[in-house]
Amino acid sequence: MISVIVPVFNEEESLPRLYEQLCAALEPLGQPWEVILVNDGSRDNSAEVLDRLAAIDTRLKVVHFRRNYGQTGAMMAGIDFASGDIIIPIDADLQNDPKDIPRLLAKLDEGYDVVSGWRRDRKDDSLRRNLPSRMANWLISRVSGVKLHDYGCSLKAYRREVIKDVKLYGEMHRFIPIYASWLGARVTEIPVTHHARQFGQSKYGLERIAKVVLDLLVVKFLDRYAQKPIYVFGGFGLLSLVISALVGAWALYLKLFLDVAFIRTPLPLLCVFTAMLGITCILMGLLAELVTRTWFESQGRSTYLIRAKRNLD
Ligand code: UDP
Ligand code: MG
Repeated sequence: MISVIVPVFNEEESLPRLYEQLCAALEPLGQPWEVILVNDGSRDNSAEVLDRLAAIDTRLKVVHFRRNYGQTGAMMAGIDFASGDIIIPIDADLQNDPKDIPRLLAKLDEGYDVVSGWRRDRKDDSLRRNLPSRMANWLISRVSGVKLHDYGCSLKAYRREVIKDVKLYGEMHRFIPIYASWLGARVTEIPVTHHARQFGQSKYGLERIAKVVLDLLVVKFLDRYAQKPIYVFGGFGLLSLVISALVGAWALYLKLFLDVAFIRTPLPLLCVFTAMLGITCILMGLLAELVTRTWFESQGRSTYLIRAKRNLD
């Protein structure tokens, strides 16, 4: 079974056409399919449109969030409720083309676990969107070691087993291929069609760049140090204490051998400051160790509240 996951936030005009296009793409495959539409607290008529569509076609499953949680939360809910062994997220705004789905599936059949879409000919504003996105993709590739051109493209295909345990926070849906790859999945990409937005407007602005960079930091940190945060905090702490000792020794040397009074140089201040910083870092590292233990041992919590469900028991 194929599960298509669609996060929806204020996309009322696009939804009927999206439904038609998805049917046209999925029907000829001759496999059972479902589309899970997650209404991420839309403030327009998306909820009514979704309920109407779900009433005429039970292959459409709808989840209404109580409020707006963001694309990542919506995608997470979609994954939680999907029953297919293949999971395909796609945007609701018709910018991705459902016609690409058969090609993604064909690529999966070649033996891959994740096939990522690459909007090679991207139809978004070039200065505000495409340039920052290109830099972000380069950075993510470098830091993660997973070589993809377009992490931000929603249209991807996953085998269920590689993402069933993934927990997503912040804006991290774009990093799913990285998690999957770290867990040993075979990841590849194919160019996909991209259309300009016809209805509504993009939900993101430039602030997304900062979020992506910070998320990347978190992902890298979690990957390398989630089980040993004290190595990072304690590392900084020890470094700071060593600097403190060196600076203190220098100040003493000046005082004892060259008769330079302590208050004549900033060294004693620096010594105290770095010592305090070092101790604080180490204590924070111990706290972080406590936190990670809680974190590892309290999995299985839901990160969203659901208002209503359709065609799901
Ligand atoms: N989206 C969402 N919640 C949000 C923001 C966006 O579910 O808070 C959905 C939106 O409806 C669309 C997809 O995420 O289906 C991508 O959003 P958008 O088209 O605004 O992003 P862009 O294509 O501009 O990168
Ligand atoms: Mg879009």
